[in-house]
Amino acid sequence: MNFNSLRFRLIWTQAIVVAAVVVCIGLIRYQLSSNRSELRFDQTLANDAQFFVSRFKFENNRFSLSTDGLSTRSALAIQELEHYFVVTDLEGGVLYEDLHNRFIRVMLSEGELSSILRQQNGYGQVSAEDGSVYRFFSIPMPAGGLPQPAVIHIGRSLELQKGVMREYLLLYIYSVPLILVVLMALGWYFAGRALKPFEEITRTAEKINYENLNTQITSTHKEQEVQRLVQSFNAMVSRLNKSFNQMRKFNADVAHELRTPLSILQGETELALRSASLPEEIRSVLISNLEELDRLTRIVNDLLTLSEAEAGRQVLVKEPVPVGDLLEDLVDQMRLIASDRNLVMDVRCAPDLWINADKLWIRRAILNLLDNAIKYSKESGPIDISAIKENSMIRIGVRDSGIGIRNEDLPYIFDRLYRADPARSRASGGVGLGLSLVKWIVEAHQGSIRVQSHPNIGSLFEVLIPSISRPVY
Ligand code: ADP
Repeated sequence: MNFNSLRFRLIWTQAIVVAAVVVCIGLIRYQLSSNRSELRFDQTLANDAQFFVSRFKFENNRFSLSTDGLSTRSALAIQELEHYFVVTDLEGGVLYEDLHNRFIRVMLSEGELSSILRQQNGYGQVSAEDGSVYRFFSIPMPAGGLPQPAVIHIGRSLELQKGVMREYLLLYIYSVPLILVVLMALGWYFAGRALKPFEEITRTAEKINYENLNTQITSTHKEQEVQRLVQSFNAMVSRLNKSFNQMRKFNADVAHELRTPLSILQGETELALRSASLPEEIRSVLISNLEELDRLTRIVNDLLTLSEAEAGRQVLVKEPVPVGDLLEDLVDQMRLIASDRNLVMDVRCAPDLWINADKLWIRRAILNLLDNAIKYSKESGPIDISAIKENSMIRIGVRDSGIGIRNEDLPYIFDRLYRADPARSRASGGVGLGLSLVKWIVEAHQGSIRVQSHPNIGSLFEVLIPSISRPVY
């Protein structure tokens, strides 16, 4: 899970908002329910108290409670209240103590009821020793038959009420995380679905490079946002493609236009050099010019080849090519140049390796690598050429023990006209186009090229090209 992803942020924001809303709603509901149930409790207590008082009789200096003619339910309610009542005079003095049951006796002896005894009307609340809370309603007794004015205080335990509210709270506390987990799981799934088209577009966009700039993204998702993104992206790629094609055409045109004047200059310089009466200084200037013209012609030719290749105007004619023979042949061709610098070239090639390749192009690619290995080798260093099968690919390696390439140059050596060491490259006739061409050729054969190099130790260039089985003629 990526914590920086839009999907995660969406879920996270949603979770915070939902949690805040659910907790707020829960608190408000809890408060409302609690108020309502307290109100209901008070009302019931007041009604019960009225009823209780109406069933009280005072005869022969004694109280008695009559349940005659009452329904079972009302009789039970009265009996329930019998446990918690106290009669006092107007000053709060307790009257008729013999009527009290043991609960009220304990509460009186502990002094818990002192605040209740003083009130003459309305509600009051006390906490008993064991922590349970009781709510009382005080109401004056009807004067008839009583020796003195009295107030009756009737109570009920609030524990049942509190238990219900506690249960409600616990249920809520446990259900909030559960709701959040379910919502987050659903949110994760739906956010993933909503963002899927964007992921598809990203994947296609990642595959686009200068070689396939004509690619257009298509999306089956009809959502307005997705379609707009696809349209803008396609329009941008089309504009880039147009500019790229113009640039390629310009390169090719310039290279093409330069070829004729360059060959005329070359021809005329060679002609001038044939003259016997030429002063020595002029001759040496013309020879140097000729070398530069030769270099220029090579740059122009390579640029033209590359531009045409990238514009798709180079046609590859592929046929089965035996890798062993190809490498032996190329190394034989280069041995003479290598021996000039005391370099020993060694070929080790597994038997029976075949690739489907355009012979001329693939020769050109390997020749470029061999040429570089010779150019950038130190005197009398070995150059090893190898070929083996690696899964479905043939790996051709060219290893030298030359000057190597610095780490910071490695990402750029396949770019056009990039030279890690311009002075050295120029001295050895390099123009920085060889490896760009090698890369294009290898990729045109559905292959890839990689390099490992260490300064002053040497370089290993590896070309991977799909292997084919030996053809049957
Ligand atoms: P160049 O014509 O200059 O050799 P390339 O495109 O063939 O151009 O190579 C680009 C650069 O990569 C070279 O200028 C050189 O600095 C570096 N390079 C290529 N091959 C080697 C090698 N075998 N050893 C050291 N450096 C190399």
